[in-house]
Amino acid sequence: MGSVDASETTVTGWAARDATGHLSPYTYTLRKTGPEDVVLKVKYCGICHTDVHQVKNDLGASKYPMVPGHEVVGEVVEVGPEVSKFRAGDVVGVGVIVGCCRDCRPCKANVEQYCNKKIWSYNDVYTDGKPTQGGFASAMVVDQKFVVKIPAGLAPEQAAPLLCAGVTVYSPLKHFGLMTPGLRGGILGLGGVGHMGVKVAKSMGHHVTVISSSNKKRAEAMDDLGADAYLVSSDADQMAAAADSLDYIIDTVPVKHPLEPYLALRQDGLR
Ligand SMILES: [Zn+2]
Ligand SMILES: [Zn+2]
Repeated sequence: MGSVDASETTVTGWAARDATGHLSPYTYTLRKTGPEDVVLKVKYCGICHTDVHQVKNDLGASKYPMVPGHEVVGEVVEVGPEVSKFRAGDVVGVGVIVGCCRDCRPCKANVEQYCNKKIWSYNDVYTDGKPTQGGFASAMVVDQKFVVKIPAGLAPEQAAPLLCAGVTVYSPLKHFGLMTPGLRGGILGLGGVGHMGVKVAKSMGHHVTVISSSNKKRAEAMDDLGADAYLVSSDADQMAAAADSLDYIIDTVPVKHPLEPYLALRQDGLR
């Protein structure tokens, strides 16, 4: 730290300097490209609510200056000599994790999100001792293990929010074996994650009901996102009529709330 190696690239990002929520330009260096590193020029980066929490130190562990951003899509500009999966020009994505120990049971089972030594994309410290910085920046350098290819035909700006919000809804459907077409799914809450839930569940061929506390989001759910039904949770008659009608519910409401009214919507075997 302190001296800049001539082989390090200087980049500019948007950093929080304190918990006020204000971001300002911040110049820092990327590590020298290692054998398995991919250097990407950032094209798009989503804003996840966790970014807002981190910037404002809502989780109590923020370190500044902090460049947030963990829904990153960019173009590969350089790869290390041992990188086999990517080459310059590829459109790639980076999510919330950029490192792990590679040695523990979760790492060996390819569930490095459970590794106790995983390294977050920002607000963490990399193996070289430098702070990690996220995607609100001109470029990133990331180990190829934590880089994914964005398929041709998928608009890069639309791919970005899939890297956290999208995975958040896709993962439980996959994990619990809920990918069969024709299932009846409920998406509780229609914020960023709920919106992804509707799109992902619809793409699997599910009949999707959005459950929301008021009618405010009905048009967005039905007309913009293509949900099949809309259920107002504060309407006891509607809730009673929908009892036993769903195969699963994805709860995207980020505040404490009772689950019982929603569990009544399930058919036997609801996950
Ligand atoms: Zn996120
Ligand atoms: Zn590990």
